[in-house]
Amino acid sequence: MLSQFLVKHFIKDYNRIELSEVRGRYGYLSGIVGILANTILFVIKLTTGLMINSIAFIGDAFNNLMDAASSLVTIIGFKLASKPADEEHPFGHGRLEYISGLIVSFLIILVGYELFKSSIDRIINPVQVNFSLPAFLIVIFATDQRDNKSSARRSP
Ligand SMILES: [Zn+2]
Repeated sequence: MLSQFLVKHFIKDYNRIELSEVRGRYGYLSGIVGILANTILFVIKLTTGLMINSIAFIGDAFNNLMDAASSLVTIIGFKLASKPADEEHPFGHGRLEYISGLIVSFLIILVGYELFKSSIDRIINPVQVNFSLPAFLIVIFATDQRDNKSSARRSP
């Protein structure tokens, strides 16, 4: 599995998840992979969606763009959370992990809402959708990506 491979090669002490530094490394790695993969998928899906006139593709493209943004927030969150304790915050900054998690959930809700709105619009004002083999192949590729991503999200 891809995420397993990345964890073993890029995270020092990857099995000591009780340490917050190690959790930080997980967050950082999944963030980098998330930004790269989702930016690539965004470009591919947006291009395809505009070519075949599919709101599902265009919506999915923006879903990937939001995922890239979520990954960026995750990285910043982990970065800030790993700051050592200071005078103002004697217990450290670990709680910031939860705040960045909250921001990410708002982003996901926002994408869901936008997708819902545009889908309703397309039901009311339907347009011709063209089938194409490249688009079909991208759907399969993108579905595989989704599985990798959700398993990465389940890791600490
Ligand atoms: Zn502080």
